[in-house]
Amino acid sequence: MATITFIGLGNMGGPMASNLVKAGHEVTVFDLSKDAVAALVSEGAKTADTAHEAAKGVECVITMLPAGKHVEAVYLGEDGLLAALPEGTMVIDSSTISPETARSVAEQAETKRIPFLDAPVSGGVGGATAGTLTFICGGDEETFTKAKPILEAMGKNIFHAGDHGAGQVAKICNNMLLAILMAGTSEALALGVKNGLDPAVLSEVMKQSSGGNWALNVYNPWPGVMDGVPASRDYQGGFLVNLMNKDLGLAFDNAVKNQAAIPMGSLARNLFSIHAEQGNGTLDFSSIQRLYKPE
Ligand code: NAD
Repeated sequence: MATITFIGLGNMGGPMASNLVKAGHEVTVFDLSKDAVAALVSEGAKTADTAHEAAKGVECVITMLPAGKHVEAVYLGEDGLLAALPEGTMVIDSSTISPETARSVAEQAETKRIPFLDAPVSGGVGGATAGTLTFICGGDEETFTKAKPILEAMGKNIFHAGDHGAGQVAKICNNMLLAILMAGTSEALALGVKNGLDPAVLSEVMKQSSGGNWALNVYNPWPGVMDGVPASRDYQGGFLVNLMNKDLGLAFDNAVKNQAAIPMGSLARNLFSIHAEQGNGTLDFSSIQRLYKPE
């Protein structure tokens, strides 16, 4: 069992840290939200007043933060963790950030002989809670092999996508596809309902047909069709529209840099931007269904 510091206890990080505690690791947590910290402490985690104190003397630091600027703030600069961590402390960042930011943190970690892995995840809050996340890692083989047993306490599929930043590239591609699938699924459901079909019946038909996809299987966007998903609780919790917009922005920036055409991704980005501008940024991303409300 390892000594681990977990920083960032939000919708994803909270249940991920909880699974590390359940697996028997010695976990110290830190978050700017005192409530989030208290929830983990009640499950057996330790805490400290600052990220630096929380990370003192541990074997591994894991971060699950909203965006690149938060990751840079925690790790870089004179006040950052990299300046204070002893050589050999393993650092795993599971936030979804740009491949460039991940590579820059990795490079600065390397100068201090701190092994770094970008390890963004897929599977949503459900996967984080059940411990069935997919981890998509970028970094060297040795660090990946060392990190794997720790990641297995939180996930089911642990992939090594390549060198530093590769995990983020794969994650960005995945989330662009997810946005396209969620918007497309919402559009198809709205068309069917406009024609008088029952959304639950139509969902089942498409699930068993060639239109079947992850949104229909586990994250149906139409309210009332599926229990336990954000659509059935007014789109509260889950994966926020603002975070999906961040990821679509990362895909767009990456496509521009690499001169890649992403017409479907660009359309999805515009749809989610309009949706956020209409005041839905803090709802779950499956609320894109509301853009297609047939009534
Ligand atoms: P969240 O906003 O719910 O949680 C982020 C947490 O980080 C908050 O508790 C916040 O207080 C904390 N935080 C911010 N700055 C901090 C700092 N300097 N020090 C300590 N704590 C700090 O976000 P989330 O939904 O848990 O997502 C986290 C990351 O995972 C994002 O990059 C997101 O894109 C990615 N992700 C989310 C999902 C999902 O379904 N929610 C799925 C896959 C990946």
